[in-house]
Amino acid sequence: MAKDIRYSVVVPCYNEEEVIQVTHKRLTEVMERTREVYEIVYVNDGCRDRTPDLLEDISSNDDRVRVLNFSRNFGHQAAVTAGMNYAKGQAIVIIDADLQDPPEVILEMIYKWKQGYDVCYGKRLKRKGDTLFKKFTAAMFYRVLNALTPIRIPEDTGDFRLIDRKVCDVMNSLPEKNRYLRGLVSWVGFKQIAIEFNREERFAGETKYPLSKMLKLAFDGITSFSYKPLKLATYLGFLISGFSFLYFLFILGQKMFFNIAVQGWASSVAINLFFHGITLTILGIMGEYIGRIYDESKDRPIYIVRSTHGYPELQDPDRGASTNQ
Ligand code: UDP
Ligand code: MG
Repeated sequence: MAKDIRYSVVVPCYNEEEVIQVTHKRLTEVMERTREVYEIVYVNDGCRDRTPDLLEDISSNDDRVRVLNFSRNFGHQAAVTAGMNYAKGQAIVIIDADLQDPPEVILEMIYKWKQGYDVCYGKRLKRKGDTLFKKFTAAMFYRVLNALTPIRIPEDTGDFRLIDRKVCDVMNSLPEKNRYLRGLVSWVGFKQIAIEFNREERFAGETKYPLSKMLKLAFDGITSFSYKPLKLATYLGFLISGFSFLYFLFILGQKMFFNIAVQGWASSVAINLFFHGITLTILGIMGEYIGRIYDESKDRPIYIVRSTHGYPELQDPDRGASTNQ
């Protein structure tokens, strides 16, 4: 039966009680228009509100709905990864739960997929509702990332996309833990096309991406696709040594030919502080990489599924509930 599923829609959810029912209604309307078999995989990323109950409800009334309950909050990228691991469709669509990515665009993606494209990614033209700070930092980030990385990661693209089964299989086989999915999907290649859309305002609730999570995502993006920041130490080191040597010759000359002795405590301290700052920054950059190497070497799973709904084959008869661990 599983083979017959044509489309899987993966929806990561973190405290989305205010939107989830409306989202499900809009998604169902759109997916029914395809007149083909589909499933919707909702990933409950350790929600602390009523979202899990609502999802269970939705899933009991609609046998095309699956729910994965995480044991705690593992983050957006982990939730999408889980959805991709469990999805059974021939094409997999990833969409946010808050209706910022308009579900209607999925039909356009499906149309392109049928023309033979393997990855149809949504490219944001306008970002309604996002704060100026978010728009600015996002725009800067995509440009810095592209300057640093050898592979081209499309600008202004989120995780809203359709991927073909074969792309999904390849991505599922990549063992990275700190996943930056939009980078990985560019990295794997295949036939890709951008589909432009206007990003809507969040339907209700507030962003689940505070600055700390945004920074983590940004560091994951840069460190998993580039080691240029590490070279900064080498370049700066060469540059500063060169300057210091010239300056040393200059001071020596002053002393020997004009008998001018060096003075100035304040300037020495300022220069010292400046270089300590640089040293610490570079140590920090190295720490980012070492921490990620450490994460990878621990080889812990990317997420832990506590229970599932809508997967009859994963039922645990002893406890009545459906678990899969
Ligand atoms: N999300 C998640 N886990 C998290 C944070 C966010 O699954 O720890 C989900 C969230 O429910 C939404 C999507 O990721 O479906 C994007 O989050 P959000 O809309 O808050 O981010 P923004 O659009 O503000 O960047
Ligand atoms: Mg959003």
